[in-house]
Amino acid sequence: MRLFLFDIDGTLITARGAGRAAFNRALVEVFGTVGPAEAGYDFRGRTDLRILQDLMAAAGFSDEEIAARREACFAAYARELAVVIGDGSRVQILPGVPALVRALAARDDALVGLLTGNVEAGARIKLAATGLWPLFQVGAFGSDDIDRRRLPAIACDRARVVTRREFPFDRVVIIGDTPLDVDCARACGARAIAVATGFYPYDELEGCGPDLIFKDFADVPDVVARLTDAGEHGGPTP
Ligand SMILES: [Mg+2]
Repeated sequence: MRLFLFDIDGTLITARGAGRAAFNRALVEVFGTVGPAEAGYDFRGRTDLRILQDLMAAAGFSDEEIAARREACFAAYARELAVVIGDGSRVQILPGVPALVRALAARDDALVGLLTGNVEAGARIKLAATGLWPLFQVGAFGSDDIDRRRLPAIACDRARVVTRREFPFDRVVIIGDTPLDVDCARACGARAIAVATGFYPYDELEGCGPDLIFKDFADVPDVVARLTDAGEHGGPTP
């Protein structure tokens, strides 16, 4: 059995800046500043805990001050995100995604989950209107650890609880749209699948050396075939 772990932003959906807008509102409410957010901080592929830590450390807050206000900040973020997302019409599902996730979730030899830098509440709010949330049986979130590289082990633990089966990392497939998603897979020995529907162009992602790369997931039968066969043959499908 294989565990397929999907990133959210740029991989399943685009929320068209809703997350960033809500995060900035929460920072202003709780810390009185957005820090250097507008001066080019790279949010892409980072966990929400990492973003909070980096931005507020750069704004002069101590680790203790940041930790003390963390819970209030993410509570404000979830509240603001729900407002910004509204009825969900702002959330755009990327090509092929609903059919791909459903096709994998329907297989006996697959478990489908999330591996995302979003805090769990944020992930839930972003996916709520898509109807996809119930298809993900496990998740590892940006609220579980500041370091994305530690999230696969958390997802595997949860998958073991759900299925009572072991998921060694060579049975884990990590799917995302940034070099940090590829890095996260490489760091634990999982298969790395990149998709260029998010924040990075195809060529730049290809340069990170993923096992497979897709322009998008529009051709669902092809994507399912390549995702489920690749591991059996020991290498990327040409
Ligand atoms: Mg992403």
